[in-house]
Amino acid sequence: MNNIVEKIREKEIFKLKYYCCEMHVNHALDMYIAETKDFPILDKLSEEEKLSTKCDYCEKDAEYIVSRK
Ligand SMILES: [Zn+2]
Repeated sequence: MNNIVEKIREKEIFKLKYYCCEMHVNHALDMYIAETKDFPILDKLSEEEKLSTKCDYCEKDAEYIVSRK
């Protein structure tokens, strides 16, 4: 039983991503760590992605993505 729960959780963590602007980088990192108990990587978005992606925490365009290593 627990195994299934663990597997689902792993999958969710695998998909977990936060987009954030420069101001919300630390917040996004904290959220990720709180959620996964793991350290994420921080990547800059490409110019193209920036234009189509908003920060998860405010109305600005996203600059970074926080995701799994
Ligand atoms: Zn923001």
